[in-house]
Amino acid sequence: MTSRPAALGGAPAFPDGLPFARPAAPPLDAVARRVEPSWSKGTLTNGPLVRELEERAAEHLGVSRVVAVSSCTAGLMLSLRALIGGGAVLLPSFTFSASAHAVVWNGAVPLFVECDRRSLQVDVTDAGRRANAGDVSAVMATHVFGAPCDAEAMEALGRRLGVPVLFDAAHGFGARRGQRRVGGLGDVEVFSMSPTKVLVAGEGGLVATDNDALADQIVLGRDYGNPGDYNTQFAGLNARLSELHAATALESFAQLEESMASRLATVERYHAGLAAIPGIEPQVVDHGDVSTYKDFTVRVVADTFGADRDTVMAALRADGIDTRAYFFPPVHRQDAYTSVPAELPVTDLAASEVVSLPVFPMDADRVNRVVEALGAIQRHAGELSGARVA
Ligand SMILES: *Cc1c(COP(=O)(O)O)cnc(C)c1O
Repeated sequence: MTSRPAALGGAPAFPDGLPFARPAAPPLDAVARRVEPSWSKGTLTNGPLVRELEERAAEHLGVSRVVAVSSCTAGLMLSLRALIGGGAVLLPSFTFSASAHAVVWNGAVPLFVECDRRSLQVDVTDAGRRANAGDVSAVMATHVFGAPCDAEAMEALGRRLGVPVLFDAAHGFGARRGQRRVGGLGDVEVFSMSPTKVLVAGEGGLVATDNDALADQIVLGRDYGNPGDYNTQFAGLNARLSELHAATALESFAQLEESMASRLATVERYHAGLAAIPGIEPQVVDHGDVSTYKDFTVRVVADTFGADRDTVMAALRADGIDTRAYFFPPVHRQDAYTSVPAELPVTDLAASEVVSLPVFPMDADRVNRVVEALGAIQRHAGELSGARVA
């Protein structure tokens, strides 16, 4: 290949553009057929389709209870409310903001911990070290981009501290930690069904647990704390899931295996092609684990690649390729968290290196063109960096 990056005057790899993501929305007519019985009965929310979704998800995940809620954020807020009464919650900064927001909405303090630079997952050893800094009431971690974190180490840390273990499993429906399904790890796991996730309801979340008392608290909490007689037991939320969203989720669930398989095929093609490009390091997933690859994130190691992440993203954009820098900025660098002290050099470095590539079901040709564009950018990295400085 002798082609030049579009940023240096070459022909763009994707003249019509390549989008970053395309929601895996199920067919509308199938959703309409599924919601019809609830609709004609006048049951628009929290009805039989929500019950069916909860039962199917619990069976699939192998947990005793799944409670459907209006979002993963609400599910995390209600789970923490049921499990802690303030204190500090250990969690990584390399996650989506909602993980930390759920802590703050409960009047608790986020105690940010490092991530591992290669897996981008919570660094549990670092979490253990920082556990001495405060009155820890829970430990929490994210299955980053749908790849399971080191759940056994998190569970061991929770046992050592005598506190509950929560997982933000927003990306993880369909993932496996060895033989264990994501959904049954720790005390509770919360999934998202918002448009960019692999299981899609439009909006929605699923709380999975084997703890019946906890599940009962979520059931109450999603309905204002109202047990049915309007004598509310605590200040709950309206976090119910509508029947239309449940119908969408059930149709999406029917496509889950197929959409996971096609994402995996895309990722395998990426892996094969990117291995030849110096300084591109894909997120490392533990051997034997299954990731949903909600995102396919690589690190641009500037010294080896010859240019930094921002230069690479700009050059890919010139080639018509839409990317994101997930998760940048890390939570502790966001304006909402400036008052929370955190010294996280590994997280800062990793977050400055990440770029997520398009990963919706793409044919081999499109994956190859992304790889070739990235290869051309690397071969001209010096010129591109110079152009940016000038
Ligand atoms: C998407 C996401 C959330 C938020 O999910 P919602 O359903 O939109 O509330 C939380 N955590 C992570 C890691 C996410 O990616």
